[in-house]
Amino acid sequence: MIVMKFGGSSVESAAAIERVARIVKARVERNPVVVVSAMGKTTNRLLALAGLAAEGKQSAALDEMEQLQAFHRKEASAILLAEDQENLDQLLETHFTELSHMVAEIAEVESFSPQMIDAVSAMGERLSSQIVALAFRYFGMAAAHVDSRQVIVTDTRHTHAAPLFHRTYERLQATVAPLAEKNVVVMGGFISSTVNGVTTTLGRGGSDYTASIVGAGIGAEEIQIWTDVDGMLTCDPRIVPGGHLIKTISFAEAAELAYFGAKVLHPATVLPAIDKNIPVLVLNSRRPEVSGTRIIKDPPHCRNAVKSIACKKNVTIVKIQSLRMLGAHGFLRRIFEVFDRFQTPVDMVTTSEVTVSLTIDNARHLNEISGELRRIAEVEVETNRAIVCAVGDNIRGTPGIGGRIFHALGGINVLMVSQGSSQLNFSFVIAEDDLVRAVDGLHQEFFSERDPEVFA
Ligand code: ADP
Ligand code: ASP
Ligand code: MG
Repeated sequence: MIVMKFGGSSVESAAAIERVARIVKARVERNPVVVVSAMGKTTNRLLALAGLAAEGKQSAALDEMEQLQAFHRKEASAILLAEDQENLDQLLETHFTELSHMVAEIAEVESFSPQMIDAVSAMGERLSSQIVALAFRYFGMAAAHVDSRQVIVTDTRHTHAAPLFHRTYERLQATVAPLAEKNVVVMGGFISSTVNGVTTTLGRGGSDYTASIVGAGIGAEEIQIWTDVDGMLTCDPRIVPGGHLIKTISFAEAAELAYFGAKVLHPATVLPAIDKNIPVLVLNSRRPEVSGTRIIKDPPHCRNAVKSIACKKNVTIVKIQSLRMLGAHGFLRRIFEVFDRFQTPVDMVTTSEVTVSLTIDNARHLNEISGELRRIAEVEVETNRAIVCAVGDNIRGTPGIGGRIFHALGGINVLMVSQGSSQLNFSFVIAEDDLVRAVDGLHQEFFSERDPEVFA
């Protein structure tokens, strides 16, 4: 068995779904379980229309809903058996009626709870997975749809729920594994439910994570992430184009890149795969002939010190200073308790005797957090910052990396530096305006020459 996950742009239209069907059909003897994202930008559109409803603009929300329904109808009806036309009508009718009830409820209370956010955003994958299953029949495959909410069980942390692995694996073993022996199973990514059956989601970009959970649960031989780039590249193509394809990379390196902003993988994706030692492949659904990136436990040695550069925009630095820290203990605990209370993850931390600087990328509770911290310390906040992170297994053993990085930055002001905690990354914070120049400089420094064993 293999798991094949197709992201939003890979299923954005009838033509895209046809490409997916060809790719899957060519691998049907490997018993694929297919995980799909919502079609195109559907998740964003669902969240936007619910936002309109919460602002009291119910008719605008309903207009947008109509357009979303028309989009799904148009793309799906082009790749459907005549006998499934009625099934499609039924599918759209039930789901969009349910959505319109949600919109009405949101408009009535003029707010949008995390539970409601999940219910609304789950519609995208609920629809796409059933549409893709119908389309697979049209392209001559025995497809069986499984509602991921029946098998992926999570805690109740709406919008970023954590899977309950034991239960989830049990259900995957009992339902998906046997079904995949004779059918191409199709499931929605991203969506899940609590033990009590309330819909949850795994967080934005979470379909990659679904794929690896399913892969680990059914004991797949491979987890394939099909997307819109040739694989993992040496830098984020939206920041600096011209990155090179990485042929093989370790689980640890890929995880580090994902934590630090490489959107090509959801940050949790490799964890279930590491557990069961299942290779993860990143592949291009528009160029299936390209061999992509293979993420494995022990890749071959790489002569380059750095394998890739990740970056994250919209970062906020919180700088906390207090003379009371001098020689005192328990201060860091008090600081982190504040972030904990407001459920705000901290990404990077640097400390000196009387100062702690840290970064967050979710600034929703920034005012409350700085308010609380000001009771015990002086607080300064800097917004519009970016984290840049050079990742590579050899960073730990290669002298002079720091020197090369700062030289390549050519005088860009570095606000925070962190190295050594994971041993395979060197990360620093700069002003967002300097980001392109920084990544470009580092990319030239570290990738002008490339080990042909590792880079395409
Ligand atoms: P999908 O919808 O298939 O899940 P995403 O948009 O979530 O696709 O992820 C793919 C995108 O990730 C690419 O189009 C690219 O812009 C971005 N990306 C960021 N960093 C990297 C990187 N190092 N290598 C490849 N892609 C990257
Ligand atoms: N559709 C969800 C999102 O846009 C999940 C995913 O695509 O991975 O975040
Ligand atoms: Mg994604």
